[in-house]
Amino acid sequence: MIIGGGVIGLAIARELRLKGVRKIAVLERGAVGREASHAAAGMLAPNAETEKLDEFYRLCDESNRLYPDFAAALFAETGVDVGFDRQGTLYLALTENDSEEIGRRFAWQRGAGLRVERLSAAETRRVEPFLSPDVRESLFFPEDRQVETRRLVAALERFAALNNIEIRERTSVARIVFENGRAAGAETEDGEKFFAGTVVLAAGAWSSQIAAGALALPAVKPVRGQIVAFQTAKRLFQRVIYSPRGYLVPRADGRVLAGATSEDAGFDKSVTTAAAARLRANALEIAPSLVNLEIVEQWAGLRPLAADRRPVLGSFPQVENFLLATAHFRNGILLAPVTARIIAEKIAENRDSDYLRAFGPERFRANDSRSLNISA
Ligand SMILES: Cc1cc2nc3c(=O)[nH]c(=O)nc-3n(C[C@H](O)[C@H](O)[C@H](O)COP(=O)(O)OP(=O)(O)OC[C@H]3O[C@@H](n4cnc5c(N)ncnc54)[C@H](O)[C@@H]3O)c2cc1C
Repeated sequence: MIIGGGVIGLAIARELRLKGVRKIAVLERGAVGREASHAAAGMLAPNAETEKLDEFYRLCDESNRLYPDFAAALFAETGVDVGFDRQGTLYLALTENDSEEIGRRFAWQRGAGLRVERLSAAETRRVEPFLSPDVRESLFFPEDRQVETRRLVAALERFAALNNIEIRERTSVARIVFENGRAAGAETEDGEKFFAGTVVLAAGAWSSQIAAGALALPAVKPVRGQIVAFQTAKRLFQRVIYSPRGYLVPRADGRVLAGATSEDAGFDKSVTTAAAARLRANALEIAPSLVNLEIVEQWAGLRPLAADRRPVLGSFPQVENFLLATAHFRNGILLAPVTARIIAEKIAENRDSDYLRAFGPERFRANDSRSLNISA
């Protein structure tokens, strides 16, 4: 049984089915895929975003490498094209400070063996002619990609429908049920009980609100992210484009997404005019050619954040059939395939990935994980 029908819960359900698990249910409080997974920009950018080559980078990179097969398999299984796009990411310098930052990143990333190219202003505008004349230079990450998040969720939902995965919407889990030291199922707010051999908690930003008996679940906090979208008649940009202050994600249908805020607003998913103005200003700094375009859509979602900003994957040693797959923060779309693989291998084959050790819930025991600083 999986609690939470976002990209993480649905991807785990699919992987369990592919590994031959017969009875799979997803309990979802609202409608599947309508929370953070619906709001995400869909960037698969482990290289543009990394600050060091640690275990987290390796996890992100591995998931990025799984994506071509993941997207192709989903298309074969469901007929849904998830808009997997390999055009890469550009990271722009628009000020002197940005250039210093880019120089620093280029030096260490090249030194560490990442695939990154440094482009002059002229080279940058040759590949993306609609960028600002203020662009001084850029880094190009050819192995970063993007996916159309809403189609990804639709494909996973379709897979569930075609493969006899039970999806129970409008089913809000209040607590995990334990019997004889093992997880036995879940109980809803209305007192309805569901029983299962294994329970996976994948409830995103709400994960630590669910009671788990004597287990101290790591605190997971919501971090609101807002995005605005412009509509262009045809696709203006080929690549995902970052600046140190924002990003543009061009979709095949001509939409250009501009994101994203990072706000401590509790579970409030409202959008604000102040955020729209800021996102628009950041977008125009990157591409003044967007100036005459109206914002056609604005939305917000809640990123799930743990105290150390890393995902929580795996179980507590005392209750092995209760697993967590949560706190993917800014990278849940990128990390869906690798998370699904790690969790499904553990459940279906009792295989312990090294990542379960690195990202397991036990790592918080020594710390006070209840006080989180969510800045940035
Ligand atoms: C603005 C924005 C931009 C982003 N951009 C990117 C990006 O470019 N690339 C990237 O990789 N990631 C990005 N992310 C992050 C990504 O969206 C998340 O990490 C990912 O969606 C988390 O997936 P999830 O399934 O854990 O959470 P969610 O999609 O939030 O799903 C959790 C589900 O659990 C359900 N649930 C909650 N409580 C209960 C309960 N008690 N009982 C039953 N069900 C429950 C919820 O209703 C929800 O459907 C972005 C996020 C935001 C907000």
